[in-house]
Amino acid sequence: CVHLSATPESAVSPYACQRRTTLENHNKIFTEALEVLALNSEFSGNQGSCLGFRRAASVLKSLPAALRSPEEALRLPCLGDNSRAVLEEICECGSSSRVEEIQNDQRYRTMKLFCSVFGVGPKTAESWFCRGLKTFEQVLTEPSIRLNRMQTAGFLFYEDISVPVSRAEAAALKMMMEEALLFINPSATVTITGGFRRGKEFGHDVDFIIKAPEGQEDRILPAVIKRFKSQNVLLYSDFQKSTFDLRQLPNHRFEAMDRFSKCFLLVKLQMQESRTGRNWRAVRVDLVAPPLERFPYALLGWTGSTLFERDLRRFARLERGKLLDNHTLYDKTTVTLYHTLHYHSILFYAILLYIVQYNIVL
Ligand code: ATP
Ligand code: MN
Ligand code: MN
Repeated sequence: CVHLSATPESAVSPYACQRRTTLENHNKIFTEALEVLALNSEFSGNQGSCLGFRRAASVLKSLPAALRSPEEALRLPCLGDNSRAVLEEICECGSSSRVEEIQNDQRYRTMKLFCSVFGVGPKTAESWFCRGLKTFEQVLTEPSIRLNRMQTAGFLFYEDISVPVSRAEAAALKMMMEEALLFINPSATVTITGGFRRGKEFGHDVDFIIKAPEGQEDRILPAVIKRFKSQNVLLYSDFQKSTFDLRQLPNHRFEAMDRFSKCFLLVKLQMQESRTGRNWRAVRVDLVAPPLERFPYALLGWTGSTLFERDLRRFARLERGKLLDNHTLYDKTTVTLYHTLHYHSILFYAILLYIVQYNIVL
């Protein structure tokens, strides 16, 4: 079962899943600098250092007040030498020369621009940059570049996708989803997950998890896609069929990605008026439909944040000797698989309680 030892009020846990975090970030000046360093490491393929900077930023975000001196940071976990050096410089000079250098770097700027397109990741961005391309116009007029379907949609609806989705827009999309489910299968329900479930006011997309009656989960998403198509509100869809097989649990490579039926969509959201002169805007929507008995794990896994999930798995493994992923919780020592997780089981409530208590924006 998931039991969390209480951390003393003064100590900050090295696990994101044990830190209370408010929606207010009192250390923006530091976390924004650390995010630049994290992104720069990601663009250089340096995952370890990227994670280090993200962990440091997450710790600072969780603090109830602004850091006043670098000495205060000494009692904090997850702050490596590089992060500390940046904090020190910002405390002394108000900014970091390293961060400014990166922000002025042509490669960093171009990679960031290209990665802001839906469907473009660091690898593609780098290959474009290495060919000497620096602007969208250059990419779009370069004859040797063939965009895939996702990138084509990404460029086509770039303006819309770049505008953060509000809570009100997420609620309107939920109604669209509910209307579709009522038509497809009235016993299926939909819940908002991702950042909005953590209380965020804006998101880059809207994430939904569908709870379908037992054995009906695989039919739901293709039906939603079909329904949206017939209503002429679907701009792009990438459906991934479930590869989940209960008999294959435990899956020894506990993964961040899950095997449930899911889809990544671009949908038209009706609006009164829009900057573009249309009466709709394009919004990114993610849907996942796990088997009913896997719902609690999937809900937990899709609520995020990415670092929270990562640390929850790390906590389960290192502090509790258990393996957790979006499909299951697995006991390493007794080789017990918590196969039959029902809604009324203690574990489910422990997990839920846990989300409510700790899972606020990181
Ligand atoms: P934002 O508000 O910017 O959208 P977010 O926290 O909602 O932030 P998302 O990228 O939408 O970020 O991801 C939400 C959660 O869904 C994360 O915890 C992530 O781990 C999970 N997730 C996203 N894609 C997948 C996937 N393909 N398989 C499993 N889990 C995923
Ligand atoms: Mn999201
Ligand atoms: Mn998402």
